[in-house]
Amino acid sequence: MAGGRVGIMGGTFDPIHHGHLVAASEVAGLFGLDEVIFVPTGQPWQKSDREVSPPEDRYLMTVIATASNPRFSVSRVDIDRGGPTYTIDTLTDLRQQRPEAELFFITGADALAQIVSWRDNQQLFDLAHFVGVTRPGFHLADAHLPEGVVSLVEVPALAISSTDCRDRVDRGMPVWYLVPDGVVQYIEKRGLYREVPRRVGADG
Ligand code: ATP
Ligand code: MG
Repeated sequence: MAGGRVGIMGGTFDPIHHGHLVAASEVAGLFGLDEVIFVPTGQPWQKSDREVSPPEDRYLMTVIATASNPRFSVSRVDIDRGGPTYTIDTLTDLRQQRPEAELFFITGADALAQIVSWRDNQQLFDLAHFVGVTRPGFHLADAHLPEGVVSLVEVPALAISSTDCRDRVDRGMPVWYLVPDGVVQYIEKRGLYREVPRRVGADG
């Protein structure tokens, strides 16, 4: 098909970790995708339970993590739109940019359950194929999926979450090998996820 087969991986990516990257890579392999576009979400209007890191930090970590893969790229559509991100807006904007492409929206078991519970989700399914990936700790069976609209695939299980990565940094525990090396260094450089920011040059 002209325009190719394009995966879309949305997320807060605070920070991006190897669970995201493996999921995208595996779906690309299974569905013969030409590329996968990572789309960091916009900033929520109000704080919910926690403060989300600034969009530019999440955008740059996503760029760093995907830079070495020629099929991966990062879109700013949700960040530049601002405010909380709705999947319908993400898909509408990317559809406009890529009118010829066949779109595949990739989402983990937990996020999928939320998206497909929307009342007007038929509109979503008209814009893209939905691919749900397995995620340790979540059961796709609980999602009550409409028949035949979502492909469910098993991806190598990585029990990694951004929440755990943030907690680790805050506790002074390592995130090496959970997130790409460049992301470890970026977190350190910007002092992300620390209640008490470390002084430059301080050790420990
Ligand atoms: P947080 O803990 O802050 O919610 P997260 O690890 O869930 O972060 P998100 O940015 O919320 O990461 O997730 C983006 C997408 O990636 C979602 O569709 C989510 O289900 C999926 N995802 C995240 N981690 C994994 C994983 N380890 N395996 C498979 N899918 C994942
Ligand atoms: Mg999440």
